[in-house]
Amino acid sequence: MKIIKSPKILHQELVKLRLRDSKVGFVPTMGALHDGHLSLVRASNRENDVTVVSIFVNPTQFGPREDFSKYPRVFGKDKKLLQRLKVDFLFCPSVRGIYPEGLGKRGQTITPCLPPFVSNAKWPRLAKGLCGKFRPGHFQGVVTVVSKLLNIVGSCRLYLGAKDYQQAVVIRQMVKDYGLNARVRIQPIVREKDGLAMSSRNRYLSQEERLRARKISQVLFALKRDVLKREKTLNVLKNQTLTELKKHVGQVQYLEIVDPVTLIRLKKFQRGMAALTACFVGKTRLIDNVIIRFP
Ligand code: AMP
Repeated sequence: MKIIKSPKILHQELVKLRLRDSKVGFVPTMGALHDGHLSLVRASNRENDVTVVSIFVNPTQFGPREDFSKYPRVFGKDKKLLQRLKVDFLFCPSVRGIYPEGLGKRGQTITPCLPPFVSNAKWPRLAKGLCGKFRPGHFQGVVTVVSKLLNIVGSCRLYLGAKDYQQAVVIRQMVKDYGLNARVRIQPIVREKDGLAMSSRNRYLSQEERLRARKISQVLFALKRDVLKREKTLNVLKNQTLTELKKHVGQVQYLEIVDPVTLIRLKKFQRGMAALTACFVGKTRLIDNVIIRFP
């Protein structure tokens, strides 16, 4: 595995490989890797000749009161996990490497504007609700870093997890709107045995919080079962779920049932639906979702 810090060198290496017809798979991460990340790496290994994993804790996607400085950084451990999976390139740029123009006072200076030829771009609307409502600037930070990374990597298959469902939908739309040279492959959520969605942030949880956190997925799975039974209205089921979440988990930032493509809130059942939530367990913010589809 080659470990590369320089965007230019990675770019050149990949240009050379593509000239020899190698297909490139790219897995962007912020490190503190777990089986969720590794499932993306495995998918990329299966479907491409070359796999690139990036580890970059992106400052512009964190709000001023969020956990950027305490976000877990365990490079040595991550490196070993990726070596074991025979990843070809580990790209770990510095903040300067990605933001040579530096970060503004609020760490949010780069907001991609929409060039005129994509004045009808759909991604800004997708980024508005759900997490976008509670994390202002977050998705601007995400699309900024992903577009920069895609420019460095070049033509590739891009692997994203359904765990960050809104993020995956926003990026997929950005790739479409801007005509970027990437094929977005969204992979299923990897969970712990008790259903908790794997997340780098799970390590913040105390033992007691960890027990409460597993309720998030259990409540979402129960919602899915109830929706499929169709005995109550969507609104009743949503309120019931919200009560359960508040009772067992703690502060619920949102629970929404939306169209899986447009992310528009649903009032009635339809064939495909996505139920998404963000909850605080103690000080830790966790997100999870389930896709519900009538047969
Ligand atoms: P992060 O390091 O949190 O930015 O995540 C990097 C990528 O891994 C994103 O595309 C995430 O959606 C994905 N990911 C994180 N956790 C999981 C999980 N439990 N299952 C599947 N993918 C995940």
